[in-house]
Amino acid sequence: MRKKKNRNLIKIIIALIILVIVAAYFIVSRSLQNTLREEAEHSADDEQQAAEEQAEKEEDEQARLEKIEEEKNQWYLILVNNQNAMPDDFEIETVEVEDGYYIDARVHDALTEMLADCRAAGYSPRLISTFRTRETQQYLYDHTANKADTAVPGHSEHECGLAADIIDADSLGWGDPLIDEQEDMPAQKWLMEHCQDYGFILRYPKDKEDITEIIYEPWHYRYVGKEHAAKIMSNGLCLEEYLENMQDYY
Ligand SMILES: [Zn+2]
Repeated sequence: MRKKKNRNLIKIIIALIILVIVAAYFIVSRSLQNTLREEAEHSADDEQQAAEEQAEKEEDEQARLEKIEEEKNQWYLILVNNQNAMPDDFEIETVEVEDGYYIDARVHDALTEMLADCRAAGYSPRLISTFRTRETQQYLYDHTANKADTAVPGHSEHECGLAADIIDADSLGWGDPLIDEQEDMPAQKWLMEHCQDYGFILRYPKDKEDITEIIYEPWHYRYVGKEHAAKIMSNGLCLEEYLENMQDYY
């Protein structure tokens, strides 16, 4: 009798142990499944987030490139050189800056301010050429000794009203002040250092003659707006290089 009782107890214990094992198995496997499901959900979320971020990045880049194309079509970034004639429909309204020198009305304040600040700093900048009519450019071209130094009519920034040739007044007695030594003159040094603050660039830099096809001109300033002028001058570029690779700088 006692033996039977013991056997029953053992059976119950074994049954209980099996029950616990089965229950533990279900609990563990359930929680494992949950963990796996959550992980899968998370990784799907991460993937979606990464895809969204990527799409956003591509959209931003697209918008940036569109803005660059838009900027390139603005009047202040017009490219006029031997290959690119001034467009026939380029509209100019000129106003006098000083001494009978005219410039595009949109550039007037920037040029006036630059000259005034240069003078306030103790220097003597002097305009010697600004806006030129087609007739004037034709006359200069017809009468120049070296045709390579003078833009073909229709291809000069002076005709666009966006350029100013400025020299140091002390070089007026040189006979021809438009020579490399102009870069050593105090007013010129100031202008070369500060022109970008007013939206101007030194349009024909040294060592860029192969690209601009114009000799080094440490007197010819071209208006492009402050934002672009800062990028062009600080990166030591000419306008052709900047427009060609604008996405790297703007
Ligand atoms: Zn010039």
